[in-house]
Amino acid sequence: MNLDLFSDDGAQAAKPSSPLTADALRAQQLRQLLHRYAHCYYTLDAPEVPDAEYDRLFRALQSLEDINPELKTADSPTQRVGGAVLPEFQTVRHQVPMLSIRTETDNEASGASAFDARIRRELGLLEDAPEIDYVAELKFDGLAMSLRYEKGVLVQAATRGDGEYGEDVTHNIRTIGQIPLQLPHDGVPLPAVLEVRGEVYMRRDDFDALNERQLKKISEGAKGEKTFVNPRNAAAGAVRQLDSNIAAQRPLSFFAYGLGEVSGWPTPSVPYQTHFELLQTLKAWGFPVAIQTQCVKGASGLIGFHEHIAATRDALPYDIDGVVYKVNDLSLQVQLGFVTREPRWAVAHKFPAQEELTTVQAIDVQVGRTGKLTPVAKLAPVFVGGVTVTNATLHNEDEARRKDVRVGDTVIVRRAGDVIPEVVGVVLDQRVENAEIFTMPRICPVCGSEAVRDEGEADYRCSGGLFCSAQRKQAFLHFAQRRAVEVDGLGEKLIDQLVDSGAVRTLPDLYKLGLTALVQLDRMAEKSAVNILKALEASKDTTLPRFIYGLGIRHVGEATAKEFAKHFGTLDAFMNAPEEALLEVSDVGPVVAQSVRAFFQQSHHQEIVAQLRACGVHWEEGAPAARAPQPLTGQTVVLTGTLPTLGRDEAKAMLEAAGAKVAGSVSAKTSYVVAGTEAGSKLDKAMALGVPVLDEAGLLSLLQTAQSEHRENAGTDSQESQP
Ligand code: NAD
Repeated sequence: MNLDLFSDDGAQAAKPSSPLTADALRAQQLRQLLHRYAHCYYTLDAPEVPDAEYDRLFRALQSLEDINPELKTADSPTQRVGGAVLPEFQTVRHQVPMLSIRTETDNEASGASAFDARIRRELGLLEDAPEIDYVAELKFDGLAMSLRYEKGVLVQAATRGDGEYGEDVTHNIRTIGQIPLQLPHDGVPLPAVLEVRGEVYMRRDDFDALNERQLKKISEGAKGEKTFVNPRNAAAGAVRQLDSNIAAQRPLSFFAYGLGEVSGWPTPSVPYQTHFELLQTLKAWGFPVAIQTQCVKGASGLIGFHEHIAATRDALPYDIDGVVYKVNDLSLQVQLGFVTREPRWAVAHKFPAQEELTTVQAIDVQVGRTGKLTPVAKLAPVFVGGVTVTNATLHNEDEARRKDVRVGDTVIVRRAGDVIPEVVGVVLDQRVENAEIFTMPRICPVCGSEAVRDEGEADYRCSGGLFCSAQRKQAFLHFAQRRAVEVDGLGEKLIDQLVDSGAVRTLPDLYKLGLTALVQLDRMAEKSAVNILKALEASKDTTLPRFIYGLGIRHVGEATAKEFAKHFGTLDAFMNAPEEALLEVSDVGPVVAQSVRAFFQQSHHQEIVAQLRACGVHWEEGAPAARAPQPLTGQTVVLTGTLPTLGRDEAKAMLEAAGAKVAGSVSAKTSYVVAGTEAGSKLDKAMALGVPVLDEAGLLSLLQTAQSEHRENAGTDSQESQP
């Protein structure tokens, strides 16, 4: 990157003869770095570092400038908004500037109190003055948009740009279904000119689906295609496409949160006096406003909102990076006014970062239960998304190559919600010299067997099977886990010792362990050994689903194991079932059925089952499930969005009880899509394919009608069959 692009014409730079003080030099370096990162982020939609890193540098510059006001330059990032306008776009001048929002640096609840205290001070309120009304909103992680309506018709959409000049992206914004092209004239009065400000963003499911499509294109050899780092970038990239056909293929959403220029009201009175009323008016005009938005009182109200959103953030279908507090009374907003780049009446209160920088200390290759080789980046410990992260999976060879992660690299690590940490990218200009490209070993790093990659598969697998001690260890761990046969106390360390010492080779060996063998192990007191033996004894009394799951058949997870047990009733019926019979089981497709057949065709697996039984492992067997068709047998239903009263699991259980299959994606074969609020691309796809869409009431009536028709038919059948 050419740093000359970002000239730093501060006073010091103009006088090269006078040496810079340490602070001046640091300020200049920070400005250059921030200019460069901002250019990559705002103008190129390709950030080089996580937001947390940018914010740290920004705050460092801010405090240097606070201590030495003479170091402040007009082009300092602390004095300006956003990025430059790309020459490919028409420039739009914002009549009302699009500003930034001050960020509260204290991420804890006390940050909310600090904002309230500042507002009270600036309004000159005495201690006993009543609490201030605020509107608390989500801080959507997308990009700001200004939508200009003239006489109720959308005439222009512009990005924020540098706050004063933005880019005309009307052609792309028209493809966003949630943005009205025409506002209703028959409701709340409409001004002649109305600029609605809000955030364009991409839902997480839309982002995942987009990246999947991109990966497919890349694997098919398409040139110039890439995956996106996060939903914000994907959204920004889509909005700033020159070709609106491309933008239309990247599903975007919108939330309104404010106004720009407004003039020419048809009546003397404006329909809102407060920010909250303004949001209700926007809703009445047809703009989406987040349902979480709340009116709250004083610091305690802000803190309550912050805590509630922090606790529920992961359940939102889109990314937010914090919350925003705004003074509710519009006349107080006017009184408080603005500083250079931000209003005084609002603050962004961010949550702890979900992306951070760290370095890669090594890349290990781990061997899983089914022999899958997974490259894992060993990281210098970093606190991200609320936990300390030391490992991040690189998934497979293609993924590791695509990201080109090398030992010594500085990388961006992301951990959001419960999702396992991942490396989202490398900071290339911090790469150490001669850093070696990672290559996947062609032999298993544990047992030395050949590593093979089947055609069409992304993963290399160790071909050693149970000869490989890593696979054996994983097989024991899987069998002994709580959700399988459950052997209390049989954890990773103990299994390592048992396998490495040769005390156990196959699962039945576990039940042949005696006290003498156990107490010989490292740090194994007699009492612990006795407890392990007791736990092994207790584990013999199990259930059929747990046993099937514990066998570790590839592609057979806990839920599938339950379905098999319910369907076949006995282990023998399951083991001997031909592929067609396996395919009759709910949610079982050819991949699972073939995997089960392949597993039991190996005689040593049959031997292991027989030996486990001989060791006393037992369960209750039952009759195979009645195959009688249920009212919705043969129908496939997809659930999307939030239903008003039914939880997702509840709706799924009701449908499955009625015999329907609940699927995760919509296709032409889908019988119904049940859509709640904030339904996304699945709903769009259903509409496009002409699949019937139901709301919650529709679902309940479908279930009821199906049940009663089913009962009637059953009644008719039984009558018909009577002599
Ligand atoms: P900001 O994102 O902190 O706040 C202003 C923006 O918030 C508005 O323009 C608007 O788009 C958005 N917003 C979301 N919800 C809102 C709501 N309810 N009400 C009002 N506005 C709402 O400020 P900024 O000036 O856009 O930039 C700073 C941000 O960009 C920081 O988070 C920074 O980390 C990031 N950034 C990152 C890099 C990088 O390299 N990673 C570079 C530059 C900036």
